[in-house]
Amino acid sequence: MASNLSAVKCPQCGRSAFEEFYYRSDEQFICCYRCGYNYFKKIRKATRNKVEYRENTEDGHGVFLLVNKDGSREITLLNIEITAAEIEKYKTAFTSDEIDQEKSFLATFKDGRFTIQFGSPSDNFHLSFEEYKEKMIKKYGGIDFLVPIEE
Ligand SMILES: [Zn+2]
Repeated sequence: MASNLSAVKCPQCGRSAFEEFYYRSDEQFICCYRCGYNYFKKIRKATRNKVEYRENTEDGHGVFLLVNKDGSREITLLNIEITAAEIEKYKTAFTSDEIDQEKSFLATFKDGRFTIQFGSPSDNFHLSFEEYKEKMIKKYGGIDFLVPIEE
């Protein structure tokens, strides 16, 4: 079904999140690869006269990105606060031989602040949505209300 994919300001952390908006059905998905916030609005039931939606929001507590040396990647959005033991577990996965440590990272988000536990997020990671938007439009020439996506 027809949808627009663009970057939007994350309602939780204020950096760039991805939004997929289905303009015919008014369904919407938002996913933030910075703080881990995610949201969806989907059709639960549609009759001829009425459409019922189901909405769900998950708070973001951070993001864990693993990039393998073969280029494949795995991203985990943390929807609950993680413990020190879990951070260690992620660190073990991160230090594996197959992992490209230059591109992988664990960032946690708490009380409005990011902590890079280890690894190195992309330059874009650190930008506010406004800075990101300016950079993307300069680079790709996008239009104001449809900000291009780049990790
Ligand atoms: Zn966010």
